[in-house]
Amino acid sequence: MAIIHTNCTCGKAVEIRTGSDANSNYRKDGKQAVYPGEDGYCIFRCSQCLEPLHQTVPAFAHQA
Ligand SMILES: [Zn+2]
Repeated sequence: MAIIHTNCTCGKAVEIRTGSDANSNYRKDGKQAVYPGEDGYCIFRCSQCLEPLHQTVPAFAHQA
């Protein structure tokens, strides 16, 4: 239901999509992370610091 423009802790720009804006069923909470301009390519680890994005990006954290 939202597209959130944010950054990894290393500064890499990422885009978090939720609800109907996401094209992913990988996660139960429906969140999807993509790089801006790379529509539809799901990312799970930062390509710059290699940390899992659900740990470095609060908007992409798993919901309980
Ligand atoms: Zn990073």
